[in-house]
Amino acid sequence: MAKFYITTAIDYPSGSPHLGHAYEKICTDIIARWKRLKGDDVFFLTGTDEHGQKIQKKAEEAGKTPKQYVDQTVKKFQELCKKLNISNDRFIRTTDKDHEKVAQELLQTVYDKGDIYKGEYEGLYCTDCETYYLEKDLNGNKCPIHDKKVENVKEESYFFKMSKYQDKFLKHLEKNQDFIRPESKRNEIINRIKEGVRDLSVSRTSFNWGVPVPFDKKHVQYVWFDALSNYISGIDYPNGKNFKKYWPADIHVIGKDIVWHHTMIWCSMLLSAGIDLPKMVFVHGFINLKGEKLSKAKGIIVDPIELTNKYGSDALKYYLIKNVPFGDDGDFSEEALISSVNNELANDLGNLVSRSLAMTEKYYGGKVPKGKNELNFDIKRIETLLDNLELTQGLSEIWKLVNELNKYVNDKKPWEVENKDNIIYTILDNMRIISILLSPFLPETIEKINCQLGIKTGKLKETKPNLLKPGTKTIKGEILFKKHE
Ligand SMILES: [Zn+2]
Repeated sequence: MAKFYITTAIDYPSGSPHLGHAYEKICTDIIARWKRLKGDDVFFLTGTDEHGQKIQKKAEEAGKTPKQYVDQTVKKFQELCKKLNISNDRFIRTTDKDHEKVAQELLQTVYDKGDIYKGEYEGLYCTDCETYYLEKDLNGNKCPIHDKKVENVKEESYFFKMSKYQDKFLKHLEKNQDFIRPESKRNEIINRIKEGVRDLSVSRTSFNWGVPVPFDKKHVQYVWFDALSNYISGIDYPNGKNFKKYWPADIHVIGKDIVWHHTMIWCSMLLSAGIDLPKMVFVHGFINLKGEKLSKAKGIIVDPIELTNKYGSDALKYYLIKNVPFGDDGDFSEEALISSVNNELANDLGNLVSRSLAMTEKYYGGKVPKGKNELNFDIKRIETLLDNLELTQGLSEIWKLVNELNKYVNDKKPWEVENKDNIIYTILDNMRIISILLSPFLPETIEKINCQLGIKTGKLKETKPNLLKPGTKTIKGEILFKKHE
């Protein structure tokens, strides 16, 4: 059995989750479920990044300790995972004791290697990003992500000799074409490394809400050094059996604003500590609202929990995967979401299921007839697409099968045919096959469909035809998708 380790970025709980957080979890969840469907042994990690100056400030404003503050806000991120039916194996918090211990051990290892020195940092700092910026990367004097004025900050700091690893990492990128996907992001990072890599400030004295630096208690870790180590602490680095089994990560799924951190910074840390590099960093795009980036500051917000309450998590998943090509930006519109629910989910899929089960009830007393599957679906192409992380095209190919089956029902008109055993069997057996393929995308719906079909959802190897047992008792159940105005 192949192992597969996949992660999302960890979310910064300084407020409520937005649609971008939901989207990243949804995509990652689909890949994890796809791998499980293939029979892989999967570990899926998500969580929250809870330290840093911004959280400390927010907590002070709220009259709370930072820990009290994050204990409250993290609940919303955990609720989001539950609402979206995310199949993560662990939800890591960087305030978890085992994580803090690993973050310290990792920095100590890098220090012992001779890769840490003391200096003074001066730079243009965005407190929202917790990141220093170069002048050329700013919009005027504003942070390109937050559109907020950066501050000139100077403080005693420990530095990590990241520049020492630039050639080694560049060679690794050149040798491994797929290390960063999509290719445009890979090229951006290669170009940035070629411009020259500066050493990285890894500690702060200007605030204290962070993991202490083990060799100097006056300092706390720079939030990224702490945060990135979650990918190994989450599987019990260095001696846990999960670390031995699952590392290196197969895919880190991240947003396009943190590619540098997950490539140059993270990989230099690993190279210094003598830990294997992950296999791939996959960069997804942002979701815009009418062409504008979602932004709490500008009041451009879409609440994913509200959407899930209104339309169901599967509807939101279907809509996002269909409309936002994995790796590109996309636009959110509630009208388009409603159109997907009404036309594709309720009409194409929902009606197919309800009329098929109604016919089975009417003509066969709710039992699968004996027959032969007359359609031969080509699954191979879908498998290739999903293996290659083409989620949008993969879903579109599966939907073609839904429509092919609808066409078969309409063409064959079983209600007008005397001997319809093969027709009904073909419909039901292919509903079973489509359910297997759709199960990573629409897990709740597929569970309902299979409950009505009287079976358990199969694995990918069961997408062969004629595996539905004649005589299986079907149940005509509730409507799968309600239509919306
Ligand atoms: Zn910023």
